[in-house]
Amino acid sequence: MLNLTATELLQKQAAGDLTAEAIALAYLQRLRETELRVQAFLAVDDADVLAQAKTIDARRQRGEPLGRLAGVPVALKDVLCVKGRRTTCGSKILRNFVPPYDAHVVTQLRAADAVLIGKTNCDEFAMGSSTENSAYQITRNPWDHERTPGGSSGGSAAAVAAGQAPLSLGTDTGGSIRQPASFCGIVGLKPTYGRVSRFGLVAYGSSLDQIGPFAHDTRDTALLLEVIAGHDPRDSTCVNQPVPEYTKTLDQKLAPLTIGVAKEYFGEGLDPEIEQSVRDALKVYERLGATIKPIALPHSPYSIATYYLVATAEASGNLARYDGVHFGHRAETFAGLIDMMKKSRGEGFGAEVKRRIMLGTYALSSGYIDAYYLKALKVRRLIRQDFDRAFAECDVIVGPTSPTAAFKIGEKVSDPLAMYLSDIYTISANLAGIPGISIPCGFTKAGLPIGLQILAASFAEEKMLRVAHMHERETDWHTRRATV
Ligand code: GLN
Repeated sequence: MLNLTATELLQKQAAGDLTAEAIALAYLQRLRETELRVQAFLAVDDADVLAQAKTIDARRQRGEPLGRLAGVPVALKDVLCVKGRRTTCGSKILRNFVPPYDAHVVTQLRAADAVLIGKTNCDEFAMGSSTENSAYQITRNPWDHERTPGGSSGGSAAAVAAGQAPLSLGTDTGGSIRQPASFCGIVGLKPTYGRVSRFGLVAYGSSLDQIGPFAHDTRDTALLLEVIAGHDPRDSTCVNQPVPEYTKTLDQKLAPLTIGVAKEYFGEGLDPEIEQSVRDALKVYERLGATIKPIALPHSPYSIATYYLVATAEASGNLARYDGVHFGHRAETFAGLIDMMKKSRGEGFGAEVKRRIMLGTYALSSGYIDAYYLKALKVRRLIRQDFDRAFAECDVIVGPTSPTAAFKIGEKVSDPLAMYLSDIYTISANLAGIPGISIPCGFTKAGLPIGLQILAASFAEEKMLRVAHMHERETDWHTRRATV
């Protein structure tokens, strides 16, 4: 059962061959068997999971209509608020934060009758690329326990790759869905900025953050995106545009199909084994009749620098609310208000978060805001224009998701710049607001998964998923499972 996709789990329940309770029990057991090695979850409440499943079975027995994800377990990155459940963001400062409301995506999941299986580990406030910045635990890559699952949504990616949940949600501010999907050999999709409501997502870089699905294949990914996408007036940046039925059109091949290939995505630092797998994937598309077209993204070399000004500037504002007054940890002893705030923040935040707050505060400070923050906004616009020009000539842009396969735990912790470079191919999509997906496209000789990134124009998720599905139908990488 644990090798079935969400789509298959739905079919089997509809046919009367499986109950939601049996599914929940099987996943909870798998979770207990593997979790000591993987450490993907920060919280799982078995009794609550079983109660949700039983309610769905009872409603099915009564003949009530059920939602699109009825009885399917979904894991949630611990930056998404669930009413009455601790939401820590992987940070000590929110160790005891219990939100009084559900995030919009959680409301959507409940309305679809999904079973919320638990909260997953992540880098503190989603700042990182390896999940090593969590204040709580280090999540391991299910394919190799010495390696990271990527990040910041490493817990959500590892949970699906380890068979602990068929589906999960992560967030992507600079690559945090696509990079861990590629490291863990699964599919991960970052929607267009504004496609999915951020209401109830604890903010990191508000102009970049998006919530998106992880799954084993493109059909499950399309299904979960359909459930979470759509307008929500509680997020003013969430766009009021109808949500296409991604699952309905998935099988339709795109013809003619022009694939843009940017030389900037095949430069220095790209592991030759990754490059080979990506070139092989391009050959699959050529065999299917696609035209491969060289395109230019001339401003992409500036994407990391631009991101680390914009994201840190926004983070410094967003994280100002953790002051020991309203939210989270408060120091035990202090001398006056300022001292209380200083101590509470000093004790509550980890090193990477402090580094980001300092960088962002500096970039916004008077005297430097023109040279750093405002300059970064101008470069951001140029990066966006590169994509506008490119998508006038091609349907999608295809390249590697990450320059390397999963790296070793501890390998990059002491070198933040090396860590930042693992997002070199993913970050510009967030700056431009466009959607991106990572799909499995091979393995290294050492047996580590390799991801293929497909980028599309804003709100072209439907096209992007169809192109991803074309590759999936011709290959079997997505069917491989880690032995945990
Ligand atoms: N690794 C990037 C960062 O540390 C992106 C993280 C993300 O997408 N949440 O900011």
